[in-house]
This record gives sequence, C-alpha cells and structure tokens, in this order.
Amino acid sequence: MSQPATGLRLVIRGIVQGIGFRPWLWRAATEAGVGGRVRNEPGGVVVELFGEPARVAAVAARLRAAPPPLAEIAAIEETAIAAEPLERFEIAASDVAGDRVVSIPPDLATCADCLRELHDPADRRYRYPFINCTYCGPRYTIVRDAPYDRARTTMAAFAMCDACRREYEDPADRRFHAQPVACPACGPRAWYRPDTDAEPVAAAAAALARGEIVAVKGLGGWHLACDAADEAAVRRLRARKHREAKPLAVMVPALADAERLAVVDDAARALLEGVERPIVLLRRRAGAPLAESLAPGLDLVGLFLPYTPLHHLLLELAGRPLVLTSGNRSDEPMATDDADALARLDGIADAFLGHDRAIENRCDDSVARVLDGAPVVLRRARGFVPRPLHLARPVAAPVLACGAHLKNACCLADADRAWLGPHVGDLETLEACTDFERSVARLERFLAIRPEVIAHDLHPHYHSTRYARARPEAVKVGVQHHHAHVVACMAEHGVAGPALGLAWDGTGWGPDGTAWGAELLWCTAARYEWLGTLRPMGLAGGEQAIREPWRLALAVLDDAFAGDPPLDELPLLRAIEPARRAVVRRMLAAGINTPLARGMGRWFDAIAALGLREPLARYEGELAMRWEHVAGEVEAPPYEFGIERRGPMEVDLRPMVRAVVADLLAGTARAAIAARFHATMAAAARELVTRALVETGPVPVVLTGGSFQNERLTRLVRDAVAPVAPVLRHARVPPGDGGLALGQAVVADAVARGGG
Ligand code: ZN
Ligand code: ZN
Ligand code: FE
Repeated sequence: MSQPATGLRLVIRGIVQGIGFRPWLWRAATEAGVGGRVRNEPGGVVVELFGEPARVAAVAARLRAAPPPLAEIAAIEETAIAAEPLERFEIAASDVAGDRVVSIPPDLATCADCLRELHDPADRRYRYPFINCTYCGPRYTIVRDAPYDRARTTMAAFAMCDACRREYEDPADRRFHAQPVACPACGPRAWYRPDTDAEPVAAAAAALARGEIVAVKGLGGWHLACDAADEAAVRRLRARKHREAKPLAVMVPALADAERLAVVDDAARALLEGVERPIVLLRRRAGAPLAESLAPGLDLVGLFLPYTPLHHLLLELAGRPLVLTSGNRSDEPMATDDADALARLDGIADAFLGHDRAIENRCDDSVARVLDGAPVVLRRARGFVPRPLHLARPVAAPVLACGAHLKNACCLADADRAWLGPHVGDLETLEACTDFERSVARLERFLAIRPEVIAHDLHPHYHSTRYARARPEAVKVGVQHHHAHVVACMAEHGVAGPALGLAWDGTGWGPDGTAWGAELLWCTAARYEWLGTLRPMGLAGGEQAIREPWRLALAVLDDAFAGDPPLDELPLLRAIEPARRAVVRRMLAAGINTPLARGMGRWFDAIAALGLREPLARYEGELAMRWEHVAGEVEAPPYEFGIERRGPMEVDLRPMVRAVVADLLAGTARAAIAARFHATMAAAARELVTRALVETGPVPVVLTGGSFQNERLTRLVRDAVAPVAPVLRHARVPPGDGGLALGQAVVADAVARGGG
C-alpha cells in the first residue's frame, strides 16, 4: 500500500439485513481494494474498513450515495479506528440470536438482472419460471421458521445442484446466500392441469386466450386469472366466484400497458415499479380496452405488474392484460395448498397452472393508491410484510395488537420496532378466524417475540377481541377504535402528540352506545378526548341497513324533514314498496332494532343511495366509491350545515339533506350534488378543527380511517384544514382498519406503563 492504512467503523441502522446488504459491501470493498469485515448485529450492520484513506472514504461515500437498492438506511455512524492488516474483506457468520428478529425479508419482485437472464437464450436459466437472486424472489411466503435460511424454507425440499451451490457460496456472485436459488436442473417445476404435452406456462396462456379461467399459483396464494378484455370471461369468473361487483385487479405485461389503460403519474409509476409490486388503483382511461364488469360503476382500475418470473412468462405469452384475483370463493382466504386449491377452485377454474414449491405463508397482494399526490398503502401484505416500522418511542414490553374485525391485520411491537402482520381480511368466516390465529402465532414465532401486553378493540363480540381476552397474558388493554386509528398515523410519523385526529370510517365501537365513525379526537398515545362528531342516524335493522342503504336514506330524510319527507318524489324511495318503507319508518321512530351510527361511511351510503338511486350495496364501500366517481372533475361549494354543542361538537347535516333533496327535485346534475357533498364534509372538518384548536393550542391534525381512501375527500379535507394546522396523512400504514393494530399497540403500551 502506498499510503499508511487507516481504519473506519460504520454502524448502519435501518432496514439493512436480509436484503443482500453484506454481499453488496463485500463487492464494494473488494472492488475498491479495501479490506475489513462486516457483521449483523441486532438493529443494524457493523462494518470495519481498512486500507488507503482515499479508498476507504470512497467505499463509505458509495454507501451513502448509492446504497443497496432494498436498504432503508436510517443512520450511519462513522468512527475512526486503528488500522488492521486485513487485505481481504470478510463476511462474519451471523450471530443467530441477534439476526433472528430482523432476518425474514418480504417477497421481492423479479429484478432487472434476473429478467435479463430469463430472456437470454444462452443463460442456463433461460425461461426458467423460478429464477431469483439475492435481490429478488420469494422470501416471507416460503419461510417455515427463523432465522431465514434455506433449510427453514419450503426450498429445503430441493437439493442445490453444483452450479447453483457455487453461486450460492461465492461472495462475488449475485446469488451469494440467495436462499431460494434454483435452476431447471435442481429447482421447482411448473405443472398444468388438465394434463398436456405442452409446456405448462404456454398451455395456460393458450387457455386464457380461449377465454378460459385459469387458477395460477402465485407467491402468497393461488389466483384466478382470465382475459381482462373479455367481458364474457370476466362475467363467468364473477358468477363462479360469487363476486358480484367488487372490483377485480388486472396484471398488465408492462408499464406501457398500464399507461395505455390508465392515467399513470410519477408517483403511481413508482408504486407500480416498486419491489413490492402492489396493485395500484388508477383512473381508467376512457375507451380503455378492458371488460366493463371489471369495476362496475367506477372509473378506477387496479393494475399491477408481474412480480414473479412465472407471471412474466405468462403475461408475455398471453400477450394481454389478465384479471388476477384471489383464488377463493367470495370472502374466504385465498387457497395456498395445492390440494386445497384443486378442491376449492374446482368448478371455478377451467385449468390450473401450479408448481411444486410449497407456499408456507398466505400473503395477499398489497394495494396502494396515490391520494392527493402522495402514495398510500391501502392493503399491506405481499412485498411489505414483514418489514418492520420504526417506533419513535420504544415500547416498554412486547405488545401484540389483535386488530379490528374488518380488514384484520395484527401487529407485534418490541423495543423500537413494530411489525404489521399480513392482511387477513374480514373475520366473518371460520376460515378467516383460523387464518387470523395462525397469522398471529406465525408472526410471534418468526420474530421470537413473547408479548406481555395484549391490545384489542373495545367491541365485545369481535373475534379478535374474544381471542385477545382468551390469551394467557395478564395485561389486556382495550383500545377505542378511532383512538387507535389516530395513534396509528401519529406513530407512522413519529409524533408523540398531543394531536387532533379526524378519524372517518365506516364503524367502530363508541363508548356512548352509538357506532362511531366521523370523530374528531384530541389524542395522546395513552388517552383521547371526544371533541367532535356527526349527528347520528338510525340503522334500521342494524347490519341490514348497511347492505340496504335505502334504509339509511330514509333515516336521514325522516330526521331532516321532521317525519314528513317527500318520499314519493324521490326515485330511490318511490321504488321501494310502501309497506317496506312503513316498517322501516316505524322501526326508526320507535328505535326498534335501530342502533345509532355516526360513521362517515354511513353518510356516504345514505346520500349516495339517494343520488345514485341505488337501494343496495353489493360490497362494503361500493356506494361511497361510486359517489366519488360520479363527482368527476366538478368542483362545487359546500351545502349548509350546523354545529351544535352537546358534549362534543355535533355537526348537524339536516340542512344538507334538505338541500340535496331540493337539488334532486330540481334536476341538478348528480356530479354537482356529489361534489357539494364532499365539499360539505371538508367544510365541516375545517369548522370542527378550527374551533377545537382554540382550546387545544397549536397541534397537528391527523387524517385517518377508511374514508381517507377517497381521493376527493382527502384532497378537500387537506386543503380545508392545512391553513389552520399541519396535516399528517398515512403513507405506509393503511388509513383503514388494516393499519389499526399499529395504533392499538402504541396505545396499549402507553396505557400499560401508566403514562400520559
Ligand atoms: Zn434477481
Ligand atoms: Zn441448480
Ligand atoms: Fe376503522
């Protein structure tokens, strides 16, 4: 060496393990002619570099400027240390205990290098549907136990050939320690049913081109696929799957196809191309060649790009966008096991494209959307799970939060990290409840966390609540639903509070005996105060009123017109038999089987039902989504509303209901009515927040809850509130109930330690 050697120690914190970070460092140091060593430690990576000062500095600079693609570096600490005469760079064997909690990475979309090899006729993995490397491939979905290495994955069944083993053991190779490494000689194989002599992926592509429905085994479960432009095929799929109207996602061969079918801005492009490869909700272009029944009544379409080599090959051969929806009947969890898929999807799928690499852990596709210019994860599953979230305030003892009833996902928190479990879905079936319990057990085992505090919803009858109460741990903390929503968003931003939160959603247990869902709360992690809400409406028949929003419309009409609304002049109500109307009105008047609800979702249902003349909702949130769609590009001022003081401030929407009726009777365009409805909610938000701030002093305002999946509502409320307070929104934690468990965990920790 020409200059005296120097030594430099780097401690790198963040998401830096299990993503090929150490081999990346090996290559960077070796290329620069720098010696040293790297090892994983709990919560970070420690690197020591020895060599010429300029070369050592160059490696450190490269790490800062162009870190490994999947790393999320939170901090790098640099310390000068004594030089050691180490000319080679060494990767230390990991300390298994320290590695355990951080080493299971999420599943990663096929990388550009692997794609190139997939299409290179000279490569030994040419057209091999299971090609992967250190930077891509299955991870979480194949793991049986921690720490993450091949013997503890479903790849253990495949013995590596010599060529694969050489790559796996060579630090200079881009497959160094790629646990699922495989090739056509030694790895998984695709299969096709019914039996055929054709290559399986080609057989599936041909079947899809014929309009057939093909079950396709993916990373985290089986999908059902069909030609997304073939109206008859899509209708057949809906009928067989018993999925009447809920939107279906579409996988497109390439980004250019997504841009042809939908409006893709820079933020949406980044989501589509991200390693997580979520389904991205996009505005469909007028005249896009897609089946009408993909998303009836909506201009949104959920598109995503291929994320496994099998998908890439299938989409290339099919040469068309494909519906790719979870392989199940209506609301059951998607099938993962081959025998189960063949049995349960028999009669739905005409053919099966499978493979012999087992799926250990179910993981649905994630869903994201750009809202008001910023990307938001709406469903957090494949690609995100089990990536940890950083907690600004570490929990005192490990916490398990059991989530909500709908869109359930659990959360484990330990020290300064929290892991949201995969989206499990609505806990409405025995299968879903079983899946929930397995998902909790699996996360505890993978992360080796023994929770001491159990957080749950306050609703006594939710499966997640009953499960929590039956757990053996002594400390149980019930967390109010909307408090959890607000704190989830605060935690995502590292805000300790106090903060104001607008928690707007469908429903959540409220301590005053009503169902909450349009609340303004003052929150710290440990407690909340109820500052504002909407005037409640009666749900005649309870849950039935949510499936039949004409009942909600009737409730708000009776209220706004003091029992004398012009029902026969409104097409929605005119279409309902007078006898049925009379029964519902008697229930409302007497309060028989008529719980009260304040949810924003219910107000959307009621007013959208009137405007759309749509008596029924075929899936949760249908009318709200269509009501947003109907507004189109129209901007209009708010309707009149009042605010009364009765404990909390209560927004009186009766003036709005009367004005909506007047507009409907006058034949005002539905777009204008929908736009004014959205604007009214934003104006009410501003009024509530402005009044609350007088008492709370300056605090940020959090927008959370499932209603903030609505682009127009999010934009208008942000615009309305931003002039009076800083606004915080969700990004990587879903605003809906899928993100709730994070807030439950943080609240439970604060309550359990008795803090404020
Ligand atoms: Zn790769
Ligand atoms: Zn091999
Ligand atoms: Fe909620």
